[in-house]
Amino acid sequence: MSWVEVALDRAVGPLNRLWTYRVPEALEGDLLGYRVKVPLGSSAVEGYVMRQSTASVRDPAQVKAVLEVLDPYPLLTPALIELAFWIQGRYLAYLGQVLRAMVPQAVRSGGSPEAELAWIAAGSPPSARARRQQAIWAWVASQGVVTPEVLRAQFPDAGPLLRQMTRAGTLIAQRRETPTTYPVHPGLPLNRWQQAAYQAIAGGGERTWLLEGVTGSGKTEVYLELIADRLRAGRQALVLVPEIALTPQTVERFQRRFGEAVGVWHSGLGDRERAKTWHRARLGQIGVLVGARSAVFVPFPRLDLIILDEEHEATYKQEEHPRYHAREVAEARARLEGATVVLGSATPDVETAWRARRGHIGWCRLPERVAERPLPAVEVVDLREELRAGNRTIFSRRLQEVVDQALQRREQVILLLNRRGYATFVICRDCGEALKCPSCAVSLTFHAQDQRVHCHYCFHEAAVPERCPACGSRRIRYFGAGTERVVEEVRQRWPAARVARADRDAMSGRGSQERLYRQMLAGQVDILVGTQMIAKGMDWPRVTVVGVIAADVALNLPDFRSGERTFQLLVQASGRAGRGEIPGRVVIQTYNPEHYAITSAAQQNFEVMIEEELAFRESAGYPPYRHLWLLEVRGEYPEAARSKAEAVAAAVRERLLDQGAEVLGPAPAPIARMRNWWRFHILVKADDLQRVNPSLAEVADRLGPLTVTVDPYFML
Ligand code: ADP
Ligand code: ZN
Ligand code: ZN
Repeated sequence: MSWVEVALDRAVGPLNRLWTYRVPEALEGDLLGYRVKVPLGSSAVEGYVMRQSTASVRDPAQVKAVLEVLDPYPLLTPALIELAFWIQGRYLAYLGQVLRAMVPQAVRSGGSPEAELAWIAAGSPPSARARRQQAIWAWVASQGVVTPEVLRAQFPDAGPLLRQMTRAGTLIAQRRETPTTYPVHPGLPLNRWQQAAYQAIAGGGERTWLLEGVTGSGKTEVYLELIADRLRAGRQALVLVPEIALTPQTVERFQRRFGEAVGVWHSGLGDRERAKTWHRARLGQIGVLVGARSAVFVPFPRLDLIILDEEHEATYKQEEHPRYHAREVAEARARLEGATVVLGSATPDVETAWRARRGHIGWCRLPERVAERPLPAVEVVDLREELRAGNRTIFSRRLQEVVDQALQRREQVILLLNRRGYATFVICRDCGEALKCPSCAVSLTFHAQDQRVHCHYCFHEAAVPERCPACGSRRIRYFGAGTERVVEEVRQRWPAARVARADRDAMSGRGSQERLYRQMLAGQVDILVGTQMIAKGMDWPRVTVVGVIAADVALNLPDFRSGERTFQLLVQASGRAGRGEIPGRVVIQTYNPEHYAITSAAQQNFEVMIEEELAFRESAGYPPYRHLWLLEVRGEYPEAARSKAEAVAAAVRERLLDQGAEVLGPAPAPIARMRNWWRFHILVKADDLQRVNPSLAEVADRLGPLTVTVDPYFML
């Protein structure tokens, strides 16, 4: 008798364990990783076979049988099964949630993989008792290779039999074409830094590597070379990029090198396309998959290399269940599959940089831009000085001068402000009251485009009141500039210049990013105004000036990563200047010219920044020195939410008493109310993830609902 342990496709606490089922004789065979239908109470639910055994179970009479096996081959590979357990433990996620992330909806709800398959007969014929199986076997053997359509035409209702025969090994579902290697076109000859990095990583020795290379140093070229080796050996590679960087240019670059072997995975894929790509990857028909965060779960038969480009990007952390970080998942997966991980960045995450400097992971550097193009010259302008000198515009005198020069020479300018909209506060001049979102504790942003106020945390929008809701005054004014306001000021100051804007509002249409890219390349835009969206990845050789309108936007957020984020944004933005023949120039405007994040970014001195940052993290007990847990309690009413948060905090304190943990709070979240929920935060700092996680899971089970984020990125 054999048994399987099944993880149910249900994201509910009480069902978050494995359930034992009996395998009926008709389904006997290797079921590991298969999706199955099983009884639960009076209904039938889907699940995945996570374990199987022949050892006896308690109360065999009580154990129900598997009802059905759902696909022609297992959707989960053994490595993905282990990875699911790892994620469950690491992030306190439910298995059901993890498996939903691993096997996307599009795959679960159909998208037949049959088109990719062909059948061949193998081994010895089925026993004479199984008459129909024998007939099918003999017929397939006589045909050589049979596609599913032809087989179905011959034996119309053979579906269950086919699955039985595949598991018995008498029929083999083969890939229609089984590539043993993938085509590779020649690339550029590597320079000496690239060559050294390539050789170090290709030589093995380390499971994970940090490839730290200044912007434009040729990191992508190193990835391509490493991938080429894997493809020639018939192995697969996975390339993760931030969603926003997953542009046609990025994909084209891979396609030029690897042609048909390239697959793409992003949020814009339709269900059919997604299911097809997933199955093609699963069957080894894709050699290199370029994708956003969730691509980290796509199955491959022989995965050998995982690359995370711009590994410092916060978008690699998923903010909903399962709250995983793609970098950590990639590393765990690589350990399970025997693959190598390459983390690439000009501004590595402080935690990654720390691991490289401590020798925990391999470390390669590309210290120069390709073709010895110099890094841009960076100047810091103190905005307090400007005010003192009577300059009330949003452009400092120095920035105006530099932009004037660039426009005269017909070069392009990028102006960065990491804030959308026109004005970030709408305030009454008489009573000082700011317009607030009725559902969130944040002020509303005025957008000039539709002349309305918007909340950036929920979907609330409204007309601007003519009179102040608090005192009735008509003296309503706008403060705090956003990108729309910058565009307006640019038009006033440089009326002849052609201006474009790039932020989430302006770039929501399909293909808008692509259009902007082409326009910039063709020189149809003189000044581009945008948010962090334009700070990354784009390669426009005629951009010689980058102006940062206010470097302080991120610096003042109540988040321990604010210094690091500011540094990264400034360096990435600076990296957009001077990528072509003409050297670049960067002007950073700020009210905090002495802050280490700004001075070190101005000098492009990562070591100084890392030292300051690590000293701060160590003294305050933040990662990489300790783990963090953010517990969030929500409620419709603030008093009830607070008292529940207090009960949770007390329970956490009691359980973690002997673990040297620091438990802070409860306190109202920095955004105390969001989408009508009152939010309270409890922050836990401790060292031993293995011990703390089960304790917090217990508290969540007993006092939940309660959101626990392990090593959070969004702290507001
Ligand atoms: P990064 O990924 O570090 O930003 P890229 O790989 O995109 O850098 O390289 C920057 C530019 O330099 C690209 O236009 C690329 O084609 C070019 N480049 C990279 N490596 C070489 C090389 N070895 N020889 C010539 N050009 C190169
Ligand atoms: Zn008022
Ligand atoms: Zn809101």
